[in-house]
Formats: sequence, C-alpha cells, structure tokens
Amino acid sequence: MIFDILKLKEGIAEEVSNDYNADKLDLGLFDIQFKSLIHLEGIVEKVQTNLLFRGNLSSQIEQVCARCLCVTQSKLTIPFDLCYEIAGMETLNATNDLRDYLILDNSDRFICKKDCKGICPTCGVNLNEADCYCKS
Ligand SMILES: [Zn+2]
Ligand SMILES: [Zn+2]
Repeated sequence: MIFDILKLKEGIAEEVSNDYNADKLDLGLFDIQFKSLIHLEGIVEKVQTNLLFRGNLSSQIEQVCARCLCVTQSKLTIPFDLCYEIAGMETLNATNDLRDYLILDNSDRFICKKDCKGICPTCGVNLNEADCYCKS
C-alpha cells in the first residue's frame, strides 16, 4: 500500500482497501496457505506530521497442524495499527509493515487444538482419532 501523502487531506479520515497476492508478499510462512487474496480494509488519516493507518487484514487460509498434520481451513483476521512520521515525505509505502503483521501473527507453529495428541511415530495413527497400542 503506497500513500500519496500530498493528496491526503489534513484531519480527514479516508477509507482505503486493497488486495494482496500472498505469493507476491514473500511471506515465507511454512505451515500456512492463503486460499484467497489478502484483503485490506482500513482508514488512513493525516494528523499534522503523522500518518495514522489502521484496519484489518483478512484472508481464507489453510493450516497444517504441526503435530497431527491435519488440515484446518479458517478465516484469518489481523488488526493493524500503524503510525508514521511523514514530515517532508511525498509518498509512503506501508507494504512491508503490513507484511510484518502477517508474519508476526503467524510465527508460531500451528497446532489444531491445545491438546492435540499428534501422530504416533511408530504406527502413524492420528491419536486424536484413534488409540494405538504401540506403547503397551
Ligand atoms: Zn493436530
Ligand atoms: Zn502407534
């Protein structure tokens, strides 16, 4: 998202929206797949020498559980809240900061549920769905 600072009016909040192709953002998230464009919905406002930019990023995603490898589809929504010092600037590119929000929000390995039992390393059974008798 690139803002033309000279075109923004002082003190008037403007609605902005954009769609990002996850592949082009080079997110490098290894256990998350974006099933739709990443949609941005936000508000930008110039207040003196600051540019306030806040809103939500959302997308349909598919995640693979790090323990049991099951695939979960869900809707990802990440609120963001940015503030820039813009004195003397003509344009501002916020894409990298939005990218950071996406990465930081998804930097933990995804686990499908807190007590996911994972897969038995011996027989490969998903221990959430069935018991196995390897240990006994
Ligand atoms: Zn799991
Ligand atoms: Zn087993």
